[in-house]
Amino acid sequence: MMINDKNSQKIVDIIQNYARKHSLWILAYGTGCGAIEIPPTMTSRYDAERLGVRGAATPRQADVLLITGYLTTKTLKRVIRVYEQMQDPKYVIGFGSCTINGGMYWDSYNTIKALDRYLPVDVFINGCMPRPEAVLAGFAKLQELIQAGKADGARKYKENLEWYRANQKKVIPNWRMPEYNW
Ligand code: SF4
Repeated sequence: MMINDKNSQKIVDIIQNYARKHSLWILAYGTGCGAIEIPPTMTSRYDAERLGVRGAATPRQADVLLITGYLTTKTLKRVIRVYEQMQDPKYVIGFGSCTINGGMYWDSYNTIKALDRYLPVDVFINGCMPRPEAVLAGFAKLQELIQAGKADGARKYKENLEWYRANQKKVIPNWRMPEYNW
């Protein structure tokens, strides 16, 4: 049987995606109250590590940025900086209703309403607050997208950086941030 370049690239992609989806090092940015569900998700009862999910110490080592709830505009600035320091391939999970539509802070003067206007979210986990079962389901969804080659938020961020920057600068006063260093 002949294996041409296209087929061999496909095989490499399948193997790479398989490895990636079973090695998800997370940077859990505990911005909101939902962060309280992370310890039970990681410890023995739910044991997320059996899916290859474990904590990372720094943005450079992390694959997944987990935003666990509401974000003030002040915190958003730090979260953007953290995301931009992460290496490719990288993914974002928005955790809790606050990241989807503002949740119970929907009319607050200093929190953002929709995380995906500022960062490329690959998976949202709804609920207030989402239980560990929902968190595990969110990781399973991310794994499915990675295997299918569809977890491409980082690519969209690069392609639409101007749009993201305009949204970010609209809510963050005193921008003064380093340029995104690809
Ligand atoms: S979704 Fe609920 S639990 Fe999560 S940060 Fe918002 S208010 Fe807190």
